[in-house]
Amino acid sequence: MGKSYSLETELVFSKSSDQYNASVPPLYQSATFKQPSLSNMGEYDYTRSGNPTRTYLQNQLAKIMKANHAFAVTSGMGCLDVITRLLKPGDEVIAGDDLYGGTHRLLTYLNNKGDLKVHHHDTTNTELIKSKITPDIKMIFLESPTNPLIKVCDVKSIADYAHSVSEDIIVVFDNTMMSPILMTPLDLGVDIQYESATKYLNGHHDIMAGAIAIRKPELAERVYFVINSTGCGLSPFDSWLLCRGLRTLAIRVERQQQNCNKIAEFLQNIGFKVRYPGLKSHPQHELHSSMCRGAGAVLSFETGCIRTSERIVENTDIFGIAVSFGCVNSLISMPCKMSHASIDAKTREERDFPEDLIRLCIGIENADDLIDDLTKALLKGGACKVNEKDELFNAVGVQAKL
Ligand SMILES: *Cc1c(COP(=O)(O)O)cnc(C)c1O
Repeated sequence: MGKSYSLETELVFSKSSDQYNASVPPLYQSATFKQPSLSNMGEYDYTRSGNPTRTYLQNQLAKIMKANHAFAVTSGMGCLDVITRLLKPGDEVIAGDDLYGGTHRLLTYLNNKGDLKVHHHDTTNTELIKSKITPDIKMIFLESPTNPLIKVCDVKSIADYAHSVSEDIIVVFDNTMMSPILMTPLDLGVDIQYESATKYLNGHHDIMAGAIAIRKPELAERVYFVINSTGCGLSPFDSWLLCRGLRTLAIRVERQQQNCNKIAEFLQNIGFKVRYPGLKSHPQHELHSSMCRGAGAVLSFETGCIRTSERIVENTDIFGIAVSFGCVNSLISMPCKMSHASIDAKTREERDFPEDLIRLCIGIENADDLIDDLTKALLKGGACKVNEKDELFNAVGVQAKL
């Protein structure tokens, strides 16, 4: 290992070991590798087990995630599948009550089959979580901030407490929302960090991928065993594309976050209830700031009316109606009808999930264009009005503080 630089530099810096000194990592689109001889096996033999392009990517990921071992797999859900395979039948686990929809679906599937016993709790309530952590708990799944409710949990307190109860409890953290640029969960004591690389890490919505990062060699060995056994390692070409996307992570997230801050303030000043950890009005603004280097580029807001929200979503031009986030272009969605439709209505209600919630995932476009586009949609949706002086008023007639 050479000298380490700041994240922005590490993302674009690499020392090539390529025979021709190619300035980008070469793509080894090969399933097998010939061996020097029967007695002298080379570093690679079969791409399911290892591939030089994937290794290059994994080394870059390990550096920016501050891990000793990083693994690239075929999707974010693939990460969770690998991680849950470390458990034994009947093991008890704790998970948040506002997890990513797909995470909720896989954990519920395993719970209903009897493979695992999953206990869902509000992870923003640190004392409640601590009271549920016993030596019987084998794994804890955390996410912060969650989306679209943007709930923040005290990762370090929960991880430290879990390890004081038992060193063997594996604390797992899904860092998709922040990305390694804004958060280093391994520094907060989690054992396994994973993220959907489909989002910020790649940033262009042209591949699906997942990244797992670990410091403990023994745990890394078990994870590698599962990846090699199940064959979910990322393909060479997708690894190569992810290497390319990764180089602009810092600059993309910086711009996305700048835009998101402006839009969060704009919506809050109109009078909407906005959920964004960068706003001082967010109940866990300070906790979030103590763990992260920024607030990210996803926010949600409520309009008070499902039909109004639907009209807003259907009347934007620049914002595409799509699930997912972390891409260079901005997206708008209604989680209840889209990404979180896999959580049944009753569970959503129990978790105070507002059916009128709109989620915005902000891209790198010009911020004024985005705000103009939203304004148009808010007017068409009936959430705002303008007077003859072009001043903006909210639905209850109060002038927006712009
Ligand atoms: C998208 C997402 C996942 C799943 O990742 P895929 O790459 O879509 O499989 C997991 N967690 C969070 C928070 C996500 O946003």
